[in-house]
Amino acid sequence: MKEYLNNIWSAISTIFIGMSVTWKHMFVPSVTIQYPDVKLDLPERERNRLYVNMDDCIGCDQCARACPVNCIEIETVKSLPEEDLGKTSNGKKKALWVTKFDIDIAKCCYCQLCVFPCPTECIYMTDVYEFSEYERENLLYDFATLTPDERVQKKINYEKLEAEKAAQKAAAAEAAAKAKAAEKKEDNKEQN
Ligand code: SF4
Ligand code: SF4
Repeated sequence: MKEYLNNIWSAISTIFIGMSVTWKHMFVPSVTIQYPDVKLDLPERERNRLYVNMDDCIGCDQCARACPVNCIEIETVKSLPEEDLGKTSNGKKKALWVTKFDIDIAKCCYCQLCVFPCPTECIYMTDVYEFSEYERENLLYDFATLTPDERVQKKINYEKLEAEKAAQKAAAAEAAAKAKAAEKKEDNKEQN
């Protein structure tokens, strides 16, 4: 009988203990928020998703070299002499076509080391932190603004220019060699 009464007392008392905790929290300010309808203010220097303003990128590769996890891949092609790529917003002359600028954001550790060396301040952290994906390949960001055809064409144009330059150099060397040989022949004739 005594044990039976103890059990009843234990059940009633634990209900009051639990309810006292509930009551206490009714008068304490809430620490949870209704995310995603409500969002916390981010700290001033938060690090989130990177962005590259390609209008200001000169393709110098400094960001890629600074990255400790090699998640930035850049490829460039020299512009042709008749092509004017313009200047960046801080006045740097652009001379390279950026044919590839990929950031594998799945590998990124948000260290921000790529941001500091950029001479045109065109790679920076944004306040975007909601960018989860179901497929890993969707986290490979392609920032290059040229179309796939243009990327190929820029390479072909530059290779063509280099081939022409090499042909001209070879022709000039051949002409010089011929002239030298003719000169030598003349000298030999005079000596005989
Ligand atoms: S934040 Fe760090 S890890 Fe991410 S791309 Fe920049 S240098 Fe690489
Ligand atoms: S450091 Fe800046 S300018 Fe140079 S390649 Fe990277 S983003 Fe472009």
